[in-house]
Amino acid sequence: MANLNEKNIKLAIQKEGRLTEETLEFLRKSGFEFESYKQRLFSLCRNFPMEILYVRDDDIPDYVASGIVDLGILGQNILNEERPNVKKLLNLRYGFCSLIVAVPKESGIKDIQDLKGKTIATSYPQSAKKFFKENNITIDIVEISGSVEITPALGVAQAIVDLVSTGSTLALNDLRILTKIYDSEAVFVANKKTIASNEKQILLQKLVMRFKGVLSAKDYKYVMMNAPEKILPKLKKIVPGLKSPTISPLAKSGWISIQTVIKEEVFWETIERLKQAGAQGIIILPIEKIII
Ligand code: ATP
Ligand code: ZN
Repeated sequence: MANLNEKNIKLAIQKEGRLTEETLEFLRKSGFEFESYKQRLFSLCRNFPMEILYVRDDDIPDYVASGIVDLGILGQNILNEERPNVKKLLNLRYGFCSLIVAVPKESGIKDIQDLKGKTIATSYPQSAKKFFKENNITIDIVEISGSVEITPALGVAQAIVDLVSTGSTLALNDLRILTKIYDSEAVFVANKKTIASNEKQILLQKLVMRFKGVLSAKDYKYVMMNAPEKILPKLKKIVPGLKSPTISPLAKSGWISIQTVIKEEVFWETIERLKQAGAQGIIILPIEKIII
C-alpha cells in the first residue's frame, strides 16, 4: 500500500453512512480514479495526487480545521452545529435534508411557543439552543447521540430536533413537523492554510474546477432538433441561451439541425414551446461536464 505522501492533497469523506455512496459517485464523475472497498481506511487516486481518507462524519470538521487533512466533504448541518474554523468552498447538491422540530402527532402542541419549559431531545444541541434562543423560548435540552425519534414515546422529551429527508422516520414514530430550523446538503470545505499554500493551492484550484464542471452539468441538458430554417429566429426567442447554437444544414432543403443546451429548471416548458414552434425530432442528452 502506498504511504501517505506530504505532497498529496488529502480529502476526508464519510466512511459509511448516508453521504458515502453519493460522495464516491461525485468524485468519480469528477474524474478521479481510485479503488474503494468496504474495509478501506484510505485510497490513493491513480490519476491525481490526492488521498481520500474514510472517517466518521463528525470527525471531519476537526481533521480539516487542524490540517490533518486539507479538504472534507460533509453535511452543512455539521458546519452549522460545530462552527469549525474551515472555509466552505462549494455546495455539492446531494445529501439534502432539514433540521426540524417535531412533536408527537397527538400532542396539543400547535406552535413553537407551546414548547416553553418543555424538554427537547436532539443530537444537534447547538443548533437547537440557537433556534430557541432567537425565538425567546426557554427549553431544556437532552443530548442524545442516536435514535432521537423514539425519545418522545419513551417519555424522555416532549419534542425533538432532528434531521429528516423524506419524513418517513417521523411518520413511523407518530411524529409531526412543527417547524424547520434549516436546510442542509453536502458541502466541500478546506483547511484555511491549504487555501493559502503555494503548492496545494494549484491542486485545489484543479479540484474545484472539476467539481464545478460536474455541478454545472447538472443544470443543463444538451438538445438536438430539426427545424425549417425560417423558424430559427422564433426558436432563438424560446431558448434565450441560444446565442450561438450549432446549426448544420439537412439534406432536406430549407431544413436545419440545431444543437444547444437548455436549463434543467425550464426544461419541459422549453421543449413544449420548441415543439409548438415547429421543431421536430428533438433529441435530449445528459451533459457529463461543462467547463466554462
Ligand atoms: P457517522 O458514522 O459517520 O458518524 P452518522 O450516523 O452521524 O454517521 P448519517 O446518518 O450517515 O451520519 O448521516 C450523514 C449525513 O447525511 C448527515 O450529517 C446529513 O448531512 C446527511 N443526511 C441526509 N439525509 C439525512 C437524514 N434523513 N437523516 C440524517 N442525515 C441525513
Ligand atoms: Zn456522525
